[in-house]
Formats: sequence, structure tokens, C-alpha cells
Amino acid sequence: MRVAADELRYELAGDTATFVVNRNINFTNICVVGCAFCGFGQGKRSPDAYESTEEEFVGRVHEAIEFGATELCMQGGIHPDLTLETYGRWLRLAKEVAPDIHLHAYSPMEINHMCEQSGKPPREVFEYLIDCGLDSTPGTAAEVLDDGVRQRISPNKLPAARWVEIIEASHASGLRSTSTVMFGHIEEPRELAVHMDVIRSLQERTGGITEFVPLSFIPFNTLLGRTHGVEEISIEENLKHTAAFRLALGRSITNLQASWVKMGLEGATEALRWGVNDLGGTLMEESISRMAGSQHGVRLEVEELIDSAHRAGREAAQRDTSYEIIQTYPDPVTTVEQARI
Ligand code: SF4
Repeated sequence: MRVAADELRYELAGDTATFVVNRNINFTNICVVGCAFCGFGQGKRSPDAYESTEEEFVGRVHEAIEFGATELCMQGGIHPDLTLETYGRWLRLAKEVAPDIHLHAYSPMEINHMCEQSGKPPREVFEYLIDCGLDSTPGTAAEVLDDGVRQRISPNKLPAARWVEIIEASHASGLRSTSTVMFGHIEEPRELAVHMDVIRSLQERTGGITEFVPLSFIPFNTLLGRTHGVEEISIEENLKHTAAFRLALGRSITNLQASWVKMGLEGATEALRWGVNDLGGTLMEESISRMAGSQHGVRLEVEELIDSAHRAGREAAQRDTSYEIIQTYPDPVTTVEQARI
């Protein structure tokens, strides 16, 4: 399976391991949804609850520019007081500070919340957000797109068909999105197969998905981990799942990303041999996995991502959110060997 996934990766994405210089901003962790797998969302009265002020938010955007980020990834909990206009305000603020930065923002669950708050359908919500500066949509909140498993791990979350409807609406509005899966908890293999079929069919209809990101479940500070005794998936199982996801997507989605936040940079480096061609981003501030107990840190330097690609024997390349290459970093070992020939 590893070899087949690696060959498919080479056929679709070549031998360059890409990464993006980006910053995560999770502007609030207050959330009313209560997903059993989540260690991030907090009730309003929780001592761990936070809401960023506009001043803090602007400070983070400035830090992102100084770091050389080309993308801001903005997501938060489902805060009951946030309106469509509040979400629009974050986008406008970011563009005021950094007019050229790409705004990759708001999960389908947040878009669903905006629809409920405003009474508008997804297409109108996207039109408003694009006017405020939105550039693309994260395909998070997918977990497993099968309503049976959603009922068990996140019964208050949007149903699978609504997730698909919202992502399709984003593509119809001219945006592109990513796609994800959360695995390694209480899902059945057949439910993962349903998920992959949903993603692949969606991509065959719209062509709007830029990448697929497998996200292994971090159980430590979560209700699901406690009540079901779920342990973190082993790196071997994680890699096998990664290769199976590459094969299940066939030629429908070019880019398969490893999440260093979930599997560590060592794991992500190894995943480059299991069908992966992208190492994700620098992030600078990762709260969602950290609060679930992930031990793999909250930021990476560009040099660490380049080094990871080179250790796997690949050329490294900084890309933008649309996978346009910004700068390449040839593997010094391969370059020296070629010079000798
Ligand atoms: S996963 Fe998202 S929607 Fe669910 S509880 Fe956590 S923050 Fe809220």
C-alpha cells in the first residue's frame, strides 16, 4: 500500500515537498456545540474561556506579516453572540492591516452559524464574506461525513449533507476550500470509506478542493478519550491510514497534507514516503490540538520544514494557499550527487 500511495503521489504532485508560511488565529474558544472529541471549545464561564480583543487580533496580524506569512487561517468556537457582521469585521480588520495576505477562514460549522444568525442561505453569506475579504474556506468540521458516527461524537454539529452543501456553496461563489478527515477514535472503517466517497464525489462535481488533510484524533483532554478509553493512534497506523486516504482519493485531489501538529514533524517527514506531498504550515499559534493535549508544539520555523523535506530526500518549496510555488529549496544531498554524475 505504501508503494502504491507513493507512486500516486509522484504521478500527481512530483517530488517537491511543499509548505505554506501561515499563521493560525483562533479568536475565541467559547463554544456552545459540545463535541465529545474536542478539547478546545469552552463554556462562557469556564476559567479557560477567551475572546480576543480587536487590539490583540491586530497585533497577531502584524506578527504574521513580520514572520513573512502569506496566509492567515482564522477559526473559532461557535460563540452564541457572534453575528455575521462580527465575522465580517475580523476579515476587514485583517485586510486593513495586511491587504495582500490570503484570508483562509471559517469552518462550515461557523458558516452554518452565520446562516442561522443572519437568516441568509450559504451563498449570500459567502458573498458578504468575500466582500469583507475572504479568500478561501477551510474544510474543517468534517470529522467523518457519515451521520451515524456524527451522532456518536458530535450530535449537535451540522449533518454531513449540510457540510457538503456549504462547501459546494463556497465553490459556487468562486472560493476554493481544503478538505479533512478526523480518524483514530470510534469510527468504523466503513464510515471512513463513506467519508472518502463523499469527498471524492464532491470534488468530481466542483473541482474546488485544493488539498486533503488527514487529522488523527488527539484524545488526552477530551470527553471521548475519557469515556471510551481511546488512546492516541500509533504512528504506524497513522501512516497506513494516510496511504489508504491517498489511494481512496485516486486522481481527484492532487495534494495530500500531513499534519505535524497531530503526528509530530518526525511523523510528517516519514509521511512523505506514504503518499504525502505537503507539510502544511508554520501556524505560529496552534490552540485546537494543544488544548486536546497534543505534544507537538504550536509553531515551526521555515527552516524546520525545509529540513524535514530534505531529510526525506525531497526538494522543499514554499507555496501559497493555491499551491503556486513562491520559492524552492533544492535538497543539498541530491544536488551534490547530481553534480558528481
Ligand atoms: S469542535 Fe468546534 S464546534 Fe465542536 S466543540 Fe470544539 S470548537 Fe465547538
